[in-house]
Amino acid sequence: MPGFEFFGDEERKEVNDVLETGILMRYGFDGPRKGIWKSKELETEICKRFGANYAQLTSSGTAALTTAMAALGIGAGDEVIMPAFTFVASFEAILSMGAIPVLVDIDKTLTLSPEAVKAAITPKTKCIMPVHMCGSMADLDALKVICDEHKLILLEDACQSIGGTYKGKALGTIGDAGTFSFDFVKTITCGEGGVVMTNNKDVYVKSDAFTDHGHDHLGVDRGADLHPFLGYNFRISELHAAVGLAQIKKLDNFLAIQKKNNQILRSYIEQIQGVSFREVPDPAGDSYSFLTWFLPSQTKTEKAIEALKAEGILAGNFYWYANNWHYIRKWDHLKNAKGLYPLSVEQQKTLTDLQHNTFEKSDEIMSKCISTAISLTWSEEQIHEKGAKMLSVIQQALS
Ligand SMILES: *Cc1c(COP(=O)(O)O)cnc(C)c1O
Repeated sequence: MPGFEFFGDEERKEVNDVLETGILMRYGFDGPRKGIWKSKELETEICKRFGANYAQLTSSGTAALTTAMAALGIGAGDEVIMPAFTFVASFEAILSMGAIPVLVDIDKTLTLSPEAVKAAITPKTKCIMPVHMCGSMADLDALKVICDEHKLILLEDACQSIGGTYKGKALGTIGDAGTFSFDFVKTITCGEGGVVMTNNKDVYVKSDAFTDHGHDHLGVDRGADLHPFLGYNFRISELHAAVGLAQIKKLDNFLAIQKKNNQILRSYIEQIQGVSFREVPDPAGDSYSFLTWFLPSQTKTEKAIEALKAEGILAGNFYWYANNWHYIRKWDHLKNAKGLYPLSVEQQKTLTDLQHNTFEKSDEIMSKCISTAISLTWSEEQIHEKGAKMLSVIQQALS
């Protein structure tokens, strides 16, 4: 998954272009920047590569989600339906808008269960936010039907699935808006950064202004810009965008390596007795950044994890069920509504109610789930070695 594994001369060259002029900001300084506009260039490349009409870079993936919600008019008291298995950024962005995160079960796609989404809709629901976790996608057709029927916004968090597709369209370009993260461990990286993609001009224009204190970017210079609404500073810097520009040119190569490495590893994992794999609604669209598999029971999964640990080969294998960052079970700060500043009464109530909610369907899936991150730097020989070792260690542990 990580683009940082292939940091090289191309990244250094792009960054150096910026260092030569010293103009580290993406707006203004038209003369001194000598025609160097890395952020704009990266936005153009993103539109081209992923088939989005518009792209707005941000300082992080979390900022991209927050910006998308602001541009889509999601705010105080609005309910946003999100999955119980995701990264903490999902609820952070929702809460920061004053909106209410409504956590629901996942299914074997590892993201929103359409049934669970339907059951969670109330008159306050405004948005459905699938998170395309671990390189693959949600059942977007089913979610779109629900959105159309209830007039809800579809916001795709595609931060972990850069390069994945659904029925021929890039993940992140199918809903009303979608986001990528370019943080250091994502498929392509800027160091830190993110993007909002949309086909809706209004959402783009609002995102553009929101990320820069509400500047409309229509003035002859920054001082002459008007501020049609309140904004924030979620700008990316030219240095970060420069890294991303080198990385996006390598994306197709990264994806090809991921696919090859993933398939070799899978040929070993699929020999484990009783193993099954994550459901992929459009198998042709998997980005292959992870291989995600299930063992027949929680006990067996825990045994397998223990055995991998004992053999010193656990690295890169994620047992999310016991992980502090990605699953509802360990989000005590969320369930205790531990804001640093006062949360709204509605937010507090929804969050503390989570202490009594059960997510049995998600537990059933996550307690048997292991995701193996696919490295770009493994040699073919190393993958065969790794696969064979994992297979034998796990077979032995489960026998
Ligand atoms: C990484 C990530 C984010 C947030 O991205 P940052 O750039 O780290 O803020 C959001 N959602 C998911 C699913 C992620 O994996």
